[in-house]
Amino acid sequence: MSDQAHHLGQVTFLGTATSQGVPVIACDCPVCLSADPRDKRLRSSILFESPSTNFVIDTGPDFRQQMLDNQVKEIHAVVLTHEHQDHVAGLDDVRPFNFRYNRDMPVYGEQRVLEDMKQRFSYIFKPHPYPGLPKIDLREINENDIFKINDIKIQPVRIIHGRLPILGFRIGDFTYLTDLYEIEEKEKEKVKGSKILVVSALHHKKHYSHLTLQEALEFIEEMQPEKAYLTHLSHFMGLHEEVEKSLPAHVRIAYDGLKIFI
Ligand SMILES: [Zn+2]
Ligand SMILES: [Zn+2]
Ligand SMILES: [Zn+2]
Repeated sequence: MSDQAHHLGQVTFLGTATSQGVPVIACDCPVCLSADPRDKRLRSSILFESPSTNFVIDTGPDFRQQMLDNQVKEIHAVVLTHEHQDHVAGLDDVRPFNFRYNRDMPVYGEQRVLEDMKQRFSYIFKPHPYPGLPKIDLREINENDIFKINDIKIQPVRIIHGRLPILGFRIGDFTYLTDLYEIEEKEKEKVKGSKILVVSALHHKKHYSHLTLQEALEFIEEMQPEKAYLTHLSHFMGLHEEVEKSLPAHVRIAYDGLKIFI
């Protein structure tokens, strides 16, 4: 990180797929059979790293593999966008960090999301947990208040995912909005001015809870970031290489392992 002095930190795309991942089990489509490593997508998540602070946004079913693939030695917190399985299923695998550093893992989320974690992972939150369970420190956040992980300030952004209100996050000039379907004008104000914008784009056909490629491009056009990345792709989107050719130069498709300075 030679020019890290000019940056808040580095973001790694740990996963860039929608809920089933790419390839999809038992699928023989050209995308699922592609030899291009960029067409191999784990479930969506990012890692933020700075000299002081590491955290992930979401711990999906591939969290363990993502930590191993990227040789992540430490995370200080988990931030959750929403409670869907493809964003939280790997939470149990924070255990090695509990054991290694002998501390509970702070997990930031909205009240509804934290309540869901208590149900979904009820064994973790029983009064007398058996040894070896994850140690989770639930910390409530809301759409209005900036919160901090160590020295890193994070602004939640309210977005709508089908009918579910969920959170995106702005960190400095970087904004990460996954599982986006709608966003109110006042929340757009939080996004405007972002130099780098990450937006989910599912595929080409209209969907009830995700933006299509065309809708994501229109939203990017409205927000005017210097650079935008698409994430949370379905295999129906098409081959990375071919779809990217159709995009404006400042819009790229994220792929697993991609690192950017923010
Ligand atoms: Zn497929
Ligand atoms: Zn979702
Ligand atoms: Zn999702």
